[in-house]
Amino acid sequence: AELIVPEVIRAGIVNAGDLRSAKRPGLQRIAAGLKPVRAVLAVPVLDEHGNTIGVIAALDTKRRRFTVSNRATLSDIAAGISGMAGLHHAAVRHHTAEAELKDAMEALPDGFVLYDKNDRLVHCNRRYREIYKESGNLRVPGVKFSDLIRQGVYAGQYPDAIGNEEEWIAQRIHEHQFPGKPIEQQLPGDRWLRIQERRTNTGGLVGFRIDVTELKRQERELSRLAWTDSLTGALNRHRFLELAEAELAHSQRHFRNVSLLMLDLDNFKKINDCHGHAAGDHVLKATCKSWQGQLRGRDLIGRLGGEEFCVLLPETRGSDVLVVAERLRQITEQQKLNYDGEAISVSVSIGTAEYENIADTITSVIKRADQSLYKAKSLGR
Ligand code: GH3
Ligand code: MG
Ligand code: MG
Repeated sequence: AELIVPEVIRAGIVNAGDLRSAKRPGLQRIAAGLKPVRAVLAVPVLDEHGNTIGVIAALDTKRRRFTVSNRATLSDIAAGISGMAGLHHAAVRHHTAEAELKDAMEALPDGFVLYDKNDRLVHCNRRYREIYKESGNLRVPGVKFSDLIRQGVYAGQYPDAIGNEEEWIAQRIHEHQFPGKPIEQQLPGDRWLRIQERRTNTGGLVGFRIDVTELKRQERELSRLAWTDSLTGALNRHRFLELAEAELAHSQRHFRNVSLLMLDLDNFKKINDCHGHAAGDHVLKATCKSWQGQLRGRDLIGRLGGEEFCVLLPETRGSDVLVVAERLRQITEQQKLNYDGEAISVSVSIGTAEYENIADTITSVIKRADQSLYKAKSLGR
């Protein structure tokens, strides 16, 4: 090979029937070797760009003449090898490109998933499987999106779906089939994802999953600050009215009862006067906390101003309203308030009103509760 290959590279096809008479020094050395080669026919094996990638040769220790047909045969073999080499190279290049692509997908900081046009998973990266902790093992190539979602729901992957599984599944599949704006998805442990999906040219779908838990937390914190009163944690006036209005409309549609309590602390000016404004603040904060401890999850409590609060009680009417009001009144009196070593006691007067007819608005119900509060005050607090 050491001698023939350079010869072929220089000369192309080498066809030497009697090397003893060869003029070229390389070929003479072949003839003078340990086991002398007397005849050589060698053709180059070329790649698709015409570069020599090898040599195929027929050697004989006897002097012989290689025929045109010998030469054609060897050239055919060389061409066959070239073709196979070309395919092999293409395959190697393909594999390398695929490996590089997969490598890049693994390196992405976000979850990445690819579905084919039949909605079967083609590839997803490790981050994607990590994000879906509860159902990561389901996310393997070949699985159908709809099966994945259904099994994910029953694996507890989507807290949002609990209680309305079928509806949730249908909705999610619809969003997936018609991808558009990014959507948010809740995961167990109050984690949040932003999902962005896009169709590919071949009818497949690529999806990204970005963890937005921290953003969501900040967003909620901002809302909390904007919606609640900083001293007591009750809803501020604006937010209370907004939510109460929505609750009233909802109850009207479903023919449900709603009631309202107006609460005003008694002689609060005196508390400030006797114990100081800071003590007054403490009383407001502690009292509101006691009330919150008595209310149900759907009840709303808002601080409408000063020492005046409003409570909305969905699905409550008649004597039940009085029971709640009386409980709040008692707990206000009974709480052991203490500020700077001084015991403070406080009482509250409460007016109640119920949603009565279709003409009622939150304002009209509040107005009636206010009138009954005024009555409570005038009857001696
Ligand atoms: P009434 O029994 O008639 O309700 O008597 P009141 O003294 O509570 O009546 P009024 O509504 O006239 O006074 C409320 C007082 O509450 C006046 C105000 O100084 C005090 N107040 C309002 N907001 C705050 C607050 O945020 N902190 C403190 N410490 N006091 C407040
Ligand atoms: Mg008052
Ligand atoms: Mg007042």
